[in-house]
Amino acid sequence: MKLSGKIALVTGAGRGIGQAIALKLANEGADLMLCARSAGALEETAAQIRALGRKAEIYPLDVSDSAAVDACMAKTIELFGRIDLLVNNAGVTKDTLMIRMKDEDWDEVLRINLKGAFVFGRAAAKVMMKQRSGSIINITSVIGLIGNAGQCNYAASKAGLIGLTKSMAKELAGRGVRVNAVAPGFIVTQMTDVLPEAVKSQLLAKIPLGRLGAGEDIANAVAFLASEDAGFITGQTLTVDGGMVM
Ligand code: NAP
Repeated sequence: MKLSGKIALVTGAGRGIGQAIALKLANEGADLMLCARSAGALEETAAQIRALGRKAEIYPLDVSDSAAVDACMAKTIELFGRIDLLVNNAGVTKDTLMIRMKDEDWDEVLRINLKGAFVFGRAAAKVMMKQRSGSIINITSVIGLIGNAGQCNYAASKAGLIGLTKSMAKELAGRGVRVNAVAPGFIVTQMTDVLPEAVKSQLLAKIPLGRLGAGEDIANAVAFLASEDAGFITGQTLTVDGGMVM
C-alpha cells in the first residue's frame, strides 16, 4: 500500500471522480476527510471507506466559503493530527455559448472551480509548510488545455487551475510540498451523463484508446502523484484522457 498512514482530504467526494479518488486512496492505506455540499452523499462514501477498514470523517461545505474551509482544515487537524494530501476535485459546469452567458454563470463556475481550489490550497499549505511535507493535487480538465465552444467559463476556470498549480508548486517546493494537476478527458459521471448520446459518440470517436474513461482511471493517476513514486514531480499536469489530447 503506497499511502499507509497518510491523511487525505478530498473535495467533491460524494460521487463521480471524487468518490473514486477517495476509495482508491483508502485502498492504498490512507484515512480520509470528505467534503462536498451534500452530507448524505458524503456519508455514503464514508461508509464504503470504513468498510475497507480505514477512517473516514465528513465535513459538508461549499468549497468557495473560505471561513468554512478554514474551519474544516482546523477540524481535520484536530481529528487526524496532520494532513498529507489535498485533492481539489469539486467542480461544476454551467455551459452555454459566450454571447448568451450571464455574469452569474461565469461567477459561479469561477467561484467553485478556481476560488475553491485556492482557498483549500491556502488552508492546506499553511499546515503542510509547517510539517515540511505534503502533496496537493488539483483536478483540472483537458478543456483547460484546448478550450471548448459553450464552456468559456469552465475552460477559463480549468486553465486557471493549471496556473494556480504551477505558482503554488514554486511557492511551496522549498518546504517539501509538491503541487500537481490531473487533467481528465471524457469520464463517465453525472457531469457527463447529461450529454446527448450523439455528442458522446462523437467524443468517443476522438479517443484513440477507444473507450470512455472511468473515475478509477483518474483515481489511479492521483494515487501515483500522491505517492513517493512521484517524489521528484511537482508543478506538472498529467493528462488522463485515452490519448484524446496530444
Ligand atoms: P460530479 O459527478 O458532478 O461531482 C462533482 C462533485 O463536486 C460532487 O461531489 C459535488 O457535490 C461536488 N461539488 C460541486 N460543487 C461544490 C461546491 N460548491 N462545494 C463543495 N462541493 C461541490 O462531477 P465529476 O464528473 O465527478 O467531476 C469531478 C471533477 O472532475 C470536476 O472538477 C470536473 O470539472 C472534473 N472533470 C470531469 C470530467 C468528466 O468527464 N466527468 C472531465 C474533466 C474534468 P455537491 O453537489 O453535494 O456539493
